[in-house]
Amino acid sequence: MADFEIGKYIGEGKFGKVYLAREKQSGYVVALKVTYKAKLEKYRFHAHLRREIEIQHGLDHPNVLRLFAWFHDEERVVLVLEYAARGELYKVLRTAGHFSERTAATYIASLAGALAYCHKKQVIHRDIKPENLLLDIEGRLKIADFGWAARSNAKRHTLCGTIDYLAPEMIEKKAHDHAVDNWTLGILCYEFLYGSPPFEADEQDDTLRRIVRVDLAFPSTPSVSSEAKDLITKLLVKDSSKRLSLEDIMKHPWIRKNAEPSGSCIKQKDLARDKVNDNSSFCFYRAYEDV
Ligand code: AMP
Repeated sequence: MADFEIGKYIGEGKFGKVYLAREKQSGYVVALKVTYKAKLEKYRFHAHLRREIEIQHGLDHPNVLRLFAWFHDEERVVLVLEYAARGELYKVLRTAGHFSERTAATYIASLAGALAYCHKKQVIHRDIKPENLLLDIEGRLKIADFGWAARSNAKRHTLCGTIDYLAPEMIEKKAHDHAVDNWTLGILCYEFLYGSPPFEADEQDDTLRRIVRVDLAFPSTPSVSSEAKDLITKLLVKDSSKRLSLEDIMKHPWIRKNAEPSGSCIKQKDLARDKVNDNSSFCFYRAYEDV
C-alpha cells in the first residue's frame, strides 16, 4: 500500500471498495479494488476472487480491463486494476435511454473482438452484462469482473450469470460452451438500441420462459435499421451451434457500416474537456488508514 498515493473513492462493490490511486515510482494511475478478508470469509467468496485474479491476470487486450497486480495484508486483498474513468456502461446507457446505431455497433465490435481473444485463450466470461462493462477516458469499452468466468475448452454445466442475459442452454441446464457469450452479444445489441433487454418481464419465470422460446419482438420505437435487427436475429438463435460466430459479427454489414474502428465514439473536443475535468478530480492524498 505504501507504494501508492490514494486518490478519490470511486465506488463500492459487494465485497469492498474501489479507489483511484497513483503508483508513486512510475506516476501510473490505477484503480485499487480493496476486498476485506473478513467479508471473503463471511460470504465464502474465495473461489470467486481467486478465479477473477487467475483469469484476468492472464489477459491483455485493449477491451479487457487489465489486472496489473495484486497483494494482500492481514485484513485485505487488493487488486491493482486499469482505471476506467467513465465508469459503468450501464449508467451511461440508463442516462442516454438507448444508444445510436454508431455507438451500439462500436461497443458490439469491441466486445466481439475482446471475446474472440478470450475464447482463443479458452476463457468464457459467462456474465457479460452492462454492469460488468466499463469505459475508459477515451470511451473505449473494457470487459471487467471475471468472477464467473470459466477456463475451459470443453462443455460446462454450472448455472451462472444474470437472468436477462442467460442463454437458453444455461436455463435448461444443458452443457454450454463459448456460444453463451455470443447469445449475450445479441441481448446486449438489442438493449443498446432499445434501452432494455429483449426478454424482460415482471416475473423472473416469465423472462426464463421467453428466453427458452426465443420470444423476440422488435418495438416500432425507437426506429432501428433492418441490418441491426438482422444481426440480433442471427445471434439470438436457440441452437447454439447456429449462432453467428464472433468473426462473422465483425464482418456483418451493420458492424462494417457503423462501428468506429478506433473503438471510441467520443468527439475530440468533448474528450479534451473531460480529460481536464478528470485530472482536476484526482487530488491525491495519503489516506491509507481510511482505505
Ligand atoms: P465492483 O466492486 O467491481 O462492483 O466496483 C464497485 C464500483 O467501482 C462500481 O461502481 C464500478 O463501476 C467501480 N469500478 C470498479 N473497478 C473500476 C475500475 N477499474 N475503474 C473505474 N471504476 C471501477
